[in-house]
Amino acid sequence: MKRNLLLSPGPSKVPAELCEVLGRPIIHHRTPQFQAILKEVFEGLKKVLKTQNDVFIFASSGTGAMEAAVANLLSAKDKAITVEAGKFGERWTELCKAYGVDAKVLKIAWGKAVQPAAIQEILAVEKDIKAVFITLCETSTATMPDVKAIADIVKQTSAVLVVDAISGLGPDELLTDEWGVDVVCSACHKGLMLPPGVSFISVSPKAMKLAEQSTSPKYYYSFKKSKKAVEKADTPFTPAINLVMALNESLKMVNAKGIENMWPYYAKMAKAVRAAAKAIGLTIFADEANASNAVTAINVPPGIDGEKLVKAMRDVHGITMAGGQGEELKGKVVRIAHMGAVDEYDILTGIAVLEKALCAMGYKFELGAGVAAAQKVFNS
Ligand SMILES: *Cc1c(COP(=O)(O)O)cnc(C)c1O
Repeated sequence: MKRNLLLSPGPSKVPAELCEVLGRPIIHHRTPQFQAILKEVFEGLKKVLKTQNDVFIFASSGTGAMEAAVANLLSAKDKAITVEAGKFGERWTELCKAYGVDAKVLKIAWGKAVQPAAIQEILAVEKDIKAVFITLCETSTATMPDVKAIADIVKQTSAVLVVDAISGLGPDELLTDEWGVDVVCSACHKGLMLPPGVSFISVSPKAMKLAEQSTSPKYYYSFKKSKKAVEKADTPFTPAINLVMALNESLKMVNAKGIENMWPYYAKMAKAVRAAAKAIGLTIFADEANASNAVTAINVPPGIDGEKLVKAMRDVHGITMAGGQGEELKGKVVRIAHMGAVDEYDILTGIAVLEKALCAMGYKFELGAGVAAAQKVFNS
């Protein structure tokens, strides 16, 4: 049987022990049995997010938590800053537009990360900015900004800082409370090793206060309803029950190791992928100083169609990596995720298949050099 290994930046590989939990008979959610699980989930999420803030969950993909942030924090005509360093930064702008929010867009060249000073400059002039929206790992370009430095700037103003950590949570360092990040959005299907269907959001007291003034239309994604429910270890609506049960186990796995101990583990995988790419003559799309540890975007060599390369790896070899997104990168990069349950042997397999597919497409290099380079990093 052909393998079906996901090395894509969401959804990512689901380990067998979590598949088993997902397949358990359903229980009812308005029961002490489920509420005990929910309580552990809220505590477990606070641990991985490194926060004491309230955490709310929704039955949605990651974008649901992003929409919740915009709908609850702001009102039509409010001013905000969005940082567009790729496809997912653009999503913040689109969400602001959908709610009539006046977004000052900071456009960054793809592959680069925003300079904190650029955000500071806008905040110094536009005193009535209410929120700054950034992305921890910009999955489309595999870059990461200096969130801590941005938080240092934003916390001196009346604006709140909102971070999309949907792909970054797990591999990329994030100290929500220590850095002073007001709102963090994430989801269960990337670093937390599950199929999609649960998103979550942490909300600081400063952001909760701002939310009280919001007049944007909202119903399902309501901080107010969620907070009332959380206090009783409940959710306002039917949660994704089996996913929440599995999320509890996933969080226990992560928290048993300690998320801070996972950061170097994924950093090593990212390093191995970069070394492998270089060893077969390829280059990395992002500047190394801004590279995320959740995903790596490798430039496809001239003369090779990146779309065909990704398709061959998937259809012939059963390895799913992601291609490039948007006008800028379609067909031009392959993106390998190193998040969640992906381990070094998955990475070695992925690199071997990348080599095999490139070879079949006529790219000239020393077969095996990428695998050897990655092995050396893993053994260092
Ligand atoms: C995956 C992802 C999202 C959310 O996408 P969904 O399809 O809604 O889960 C948002 N932001 C980033 C950076 C992502 O990687």
